[in-house]
Amino acid sequence: MVNDIDLRHLRRCVELAAEALAEGDEPFGSVLVAGDGAVLAEDHNRVAGGDRTRHPEFALARWAAANLTPEQRAAATVYTSGEHCPMCAAAHGWVGLGRIVYASSSRQLAAWLAELGVPAPPVRTLPIGEVVPGAVTDGPVPELAERVRELHRRFHRAG
Ligand SMILES: [Zn+2]
Repeated sequence: MVNDIDLRHLRRCVELAAEALAEGDEPFGSVLVAGDGAVLAEDHNRVAGGDRTRHPEFALARWAAANLTPEQRAAATVYTSGEHCPMCAAAHGWVGLGRIVYASSSRQLAAWLAELGVPAPPVRTLPIGEVVPGAVTDGPVPELAERVRELHRRFHRAG
Protein backbone atom coordinates (compact mmCIF):
# COMPACT_ATOMS: atom_id res chain seq x y z
CA MET A 1 0.00 0.00 0.00
CA VAL A 2 1.16 3.51 -0.87
CA ASN A 3 0.48 6.10 1.87
CA ASP A 4 0.66 9.92 1.97
CA ILE A 5 4.34 9.92 2.94
CA ASP A 6 5.10 7.60 0.02
CA LEU A 7 3.21 9.92 -2.32
CA ARG A 8 5.21 12.93 -1.13
CA HIS A 9 8.49 11.18 -1.93
CA LEU A 10 7.16 9.91 -5.25
CA ARG A 11 6.15 13.44 -6.24
CA ARG A 12 9.74 14.51 -5.58
CA CYS A 13 10.92 11.67 -7.85
CA VAL A 14 8.69 12.99 -10.63
CA GLU A 15 10.13 16.50 -10.05
CA LEU A 16 13.64 15.06 -10.35
CA ALA A 17 12.62 13.31 -13.56
CA ALA A 18 11.37 16.66 -14.90
CA GLU A 19 14.72 18.24 -13.90
CA ALA A 20 16.53 15.52 -15.85
CA LEU A 21 14.36 16.27 -18.87
CA ALA A 22 15.08 20.00 -18.53
CA GLU A 23 18.80 19.14 -18.63
CA GLY A 24 18.34 17.09 -21.81
CA ASP A 25 18.42 13.72 -20.09
CA GLU A 26 15.93 10.87 -19.89
CA PRO A 27 13.20 11.59 -17.32
CA PHE A 28 13.93 9.34 -14.36
CA GLY A 29 14.35 10.45 -10.74
CA SER A 30 14.82 8.64 -7.40
CA VAL A 31 15.00 9.38 -3.68
CA LEU A 32 16.60 7.29 -0.89
CA VAL A 33 14.81 7.58 2.47
CA ALA A 34 16.10 6.24 5.80
CA GLY A 35 14.10 4.03 8.11
CA ASP A 36 13.38 7.07 10.31
CA GLY A 37 11.95 8.98 7.34
CA ALA A 38 14.92 11.27 6.65
CA VAL A 39 15.77 11.90 3.00
CA LEU A 40 19.35 10.65 2.57
CA ALA A 41 20.08 11.20 -1.12
CA GLU A 42 18.39 11.87 -4.43
CA ASP A 43 19.42 11.77 -8.06
CA HIS A 44 18.15 11.74 -11.61
CA ASN A 45 19.26 10.11 -14.85
CA ARG A 46 22.64 11.31 -16.16
CA VAL A 47 23.05 9.20 -19.29
CA ALA A 48 23.10 12.12 -21.77
CA GLY A 49 26.90 12.33 -21.40
CA GLY A 50 27.21 8.87 -22.97
CA ASP A 51 27.48 6.54 -19.93
CA ARG A 52 24.24 4.59 -20.17
CA THR A 53 24.68 3.06 -16.70
CA ARG A 54 24.13 6.38 -14.93
CA HIS A 55 20.64 5.63 -13.65
CA PRO A 56 19.58 7.22 -10.35
CA GLU A 57 18.68 3.90 -8.68
CA PHE A 58 22.17 2.58 -9.44
CA ALA A 59 23.76 5.77 -8.08
CA LEU A 60 21.67 5.53 -4.88
CA ALA A 61 22.57 1.86 -4.38
CA ARG A 62 26.27 2.69 -4.62
CA TRP A 63 25.81 5.71 -2.33
CA ALA A 64 24.11 3.42 0.20
CA ALA A 65 26.93 0.86 -0.01
CA ALA A 66 29.47 3.60 0.69
CA ASN A 67 27.58 5.43 3.44
CA LEU A 68 25.15 3.11 5.27
CA THR A 69 25.50 0.02 7.45
CA PRO A 70 23.80 -3.17 6.27
CA GLU A 71 21.05 -2.55 8.88
CA GLN A 72 20.49 1.01 7.69
CA ARG A 73 20.31 -0.16 4.08
CA ALA A 74 17.75 -2.84 4.89
CA ALA A 75 15.60 -0.25 6.70
CA ALA A 76 15.81 2.31 3.86
CA THR A 77 13.22 2.79 1.10
CA VAL A 78 14.00 3.68 -2.51
CA TYR A 79 11.37 5.82 -4.23
CA THR A 80 11.59 6.16 -7.98
CA SER A 81 9.64 7.64 -10.88
CA GLY A 82 10.04 4.42 -12.87
CA GLU A 83 10.51 0.85 -11.71
CA HIS A 84 14.15 -0.28 -11.55
CA CYS A 85 15.69 -1.76 -14.69
CA PRO A 86 17.45 -5.15 -14.23
CA MET A 87 20.84 -3.45 -13.67
CA CYS A 88 19.49 -1.22 -10.92
CA ALA A 89 17.39 -3.99 -9.39
CA ALA A 90 20.51 -6.16 -9.19
CA ALA A 91 22.49 -3.34 -7.55
CA HIS A 92 19.62 -2.85 -5.09
CA GLY A 93 19.63 -6.56 -4.26
CA TRP A 94 23.42 -6.83 -3.91
CA VAL A 95 23.57 -3.78 -1.64
CA GLY A 96 20.69 -5.08 0.49
CA LEU A 97 18.40 -2.06 0.37
CA GLY A 98 14.81 -2.30 1.60
CA ARG A 99 11.45 -1.52 0.06
CA ILE A 100 11.03 -0.01 -3.41
CA VAL A 101 8.10 2.25 -4.32
CA TYR A 102 7.70 3.28 -7.96
CA ALA A 103 5.34 5.71 -9.67
CA SER A 104 5.29 3.83 -12.97
CA SER A 105 6.16 0.24 -13.82
CA SER A 106 8.65 -1.19 -16.32
CA ARG A 107 5.73 -2.77 -18.14
CA GLN A 108 4.11 0.67 -18.53
CA LEU A 109 7.37 2.19 -19.76
CA ALA A 110 7.84 -0.56 -22.35
CA ALA A 111 4.29 0.02 -23.64
CA TRP A 112 4.77 3.82 -23.78
CA LEU A 113 8.07 3.56 -25.65
CA ALA A 114 6.55 1.09 -28.10
CA GLU A 115 3.69 3.55 -28.70
CA LEU A 116 6.22 6.30 -29.36
CA GLY A 117 8.12 4.09 -31.80
CA VAL A 118 11.28 4.07 -29.67
CA PRO A 119 13.54 1.08 -30.47
CA ALA A 120 13.71 -1.61 -27.77
CA PRO A 121 16.52 -1.07 -25.24
CA PRO A 122 19.56 -3.39 -25.27
CA VAL A 123 18.63 -4.74 -21.81
CA ARG A 124 15.42 -6.68 -21.31
CA THR A 125 12.67 -5.01 -19.32
CA LEU A 126 11.82 -7.18 -16.30
CA PRO A 127 9.79 -6.65 -13.13
CA ILE A 128 12.03 -6.12 -10.07
CA GLY A 129 10.75 -9.36 -8.54
CA GLU A 130 12.24 -11.40 -11.39
CA VAL A 131 15.69 -9.99 -10.62
CA VAL A 132 15.44 -9.75 -6.81
CA PRO A 133 12.96 -12.43 -5.69
CA GLY A 134 12.80 -11.13 -2.11
CA ALA A 135 12.19 -7.48 -3.01
CA VAL A 136 9.29 -5.68 -1.35
CA THR A 137 7.73 -3.35 -3.91
CA ASP A 138 4.75 -1.04 -4.30
CA GLY A 139 3.48 0.65 -7.46
CA PRO A 140 2.52 1.83 -9.93
CA VAL A 141 0.51 4.87 -8.78
CA PRO A 142 -1.88 5.75 -11.62
CA GLU A 143 -2.06 9.55 -11.27
CA LEU A 144 1.72 9.89 -11.01
CA ALA A 145 2.36 7.32 -13.74
CA GLU A 146 0.38 9.54 -16.10
CA ARG A 147 2.72 12.45 -15.34
CA VAL A 148 5.76 10.23 -15.91
CA ARG A 149 4.27 9.13 -19.22
CA GLU A 150 3.96 12.76 -20.28
CA LEU A 151 7.64 13.38 -19.46
CA HIS A 152 8.70 10.42 -21.63
CA ARG A 153 6.45 11.64 -24.42
CA ARG A 154 8.13 15.06 -24.27
CA PHE A 155 11.63 13.53 -24.19
CA HIS A 156 11.09 11.35 -27.23
CA ARG A 157 9.08 13.89 -29.23
CA ALA A 158 11.86 16.44 -28.71
CA GLY A 159 14.60 13.98 -29.67
ZN1 LIG B 1 18.38 1.30 -14.17
